[in-house]
Amino acid sequence: MKIFYDEDANLDIIKGMSVAIIGYGSQGHAHANNLKDSGVDVTVGLRSGSSSWTKAEEAGIKVEDVEGAVTGSDLVMVLAPDEFQKDIYEKQIQPNLKDGSILAFAHGFNIHFNKIIPDETTSVIMIAPKGPGHTVRSTYNDGGGVPSLIAVFKDDIKNKPFSAKDVALSYAKANGGTRAGVLETSFKEETETDLFGEQAVLCGGMTALIKAGYETLVEAGYSPEMAYFECLHETKLIVDLIHEGGIANMHYSISNTAEYGDYLSGPKVITEDTKVVMKEILANIQSGEFANQFLDDCRQSNDGSGGPVMKSNREATKNHSIEKVGSELRSKMKFLNNQKLVDKEKN
Ligand code: NAD
Ligand code: MG
Ligand code: MG
Repeated sequence: MKIFYDEDANLDIIKGMSVAIIGYGSQGHAHANNLKDSGVDVTVGLRSGSSSWTKAEEAGIKVEDVEGAVTGSDLVMVLAPDEFQKDIYEKQIQPNLKDGSILAFAHGFNIHFNKIIPDETTSVIMIAPKGPGHTVRSTYNDGGGVPSLIAVFKDDIKNKPFSAKDVALSYAKANGGTRAGVLETSFKEETETDLFGEQAVLCGGMTALIKAGYETLVEAGYSPEMAYFECLHETKLIVDLIHEGGIANMHYSISNTAEYGDYLSGPKVITEDTKVVMKEILANIQSGEFANQFLDDCRQSNDGSGGPVMKSNREATKNHSIEKVGSELRSKMKFLNNQKLVDKEKN
């Protein structure tokens, strides 16, 4: 598979455009700051009264309401939450999009599941960093980047010496993505694999595994502090080794005892039955059923801050003893506070 790096992308394309970034959340703040530092003309579009407004201004970025940011811009990157994008697109973006401007996303959700139907003549691309927004910013600042996916849903660029794919690569370069590697995919593939990964492995699978391990130790009479260090804190230390050099690299660093126990017990925790469930999760995503479940829950929210399923689960997580004991233990680990990825005052 072809992987694109810095030398495969022409930064001048995106530097020749005025770019509107809608939203200044996890991805929005990262793209806006990275593009600005790469010399791109960026305006962030927000709701008036948004708490993000001063954060963006304090970072030295131009801010306007969504309509104002979209008007006249050559490329509009939509980085508002997925559940609001359809409404924002139909009411504030589409009516102000100038002829020939490009619509961009960092996740294919709304295009792939036909929630947003762009005009025939609008080019639609994706630049999706494969990592949390805060890491997209911190790695860029450290001279690196986050591996990213690009995709072209529609190329309707006329009379220009570049294609929609060239624009996506150029944007990915300005965002630090080509420093790590960029893969070309489709909106369908990105959407389905991204949703599957976050549900089955990265977020859903991992937090369920951590909590089940923690609960098993605490229910057996071990102290919550012990269980927290063993099942949550140490996860990162182990993942760092896997991330750096693969699974065998991690096995090299741990004791032979730990490695033997890994082979013996891992397959008992994640079984063939787990894979049956994973296949069901994937099918639920592919059919569009998950997308509708999520949007239905959001629709029942009276203030846009999450529907009943989202809110009850957030509350249950907050009240889980692993979160309480963890917050106390982390407050004593001063070194963790020195380089926080998430600082809610700023990003
Ligand atoms: P987020 O929830 O962190 O932030 C969204 C921002 O949108 C808010 O901070 C706010 O400034 C703004 N916003 C909210 N409502 C708005 C409105 N009505 N009008 C204008 N602006 C509004 O969102 P996010 O997690 O960064 O997700 C943005 C997109 O990036 C989504 O498509 C998501 O799937 C994709 N994505 C996110 C991540 C991630 O790390 N969070 C990773 C890859 C892709
Ligand atoms: Mg995702
Ligand atoms: Mg050990």
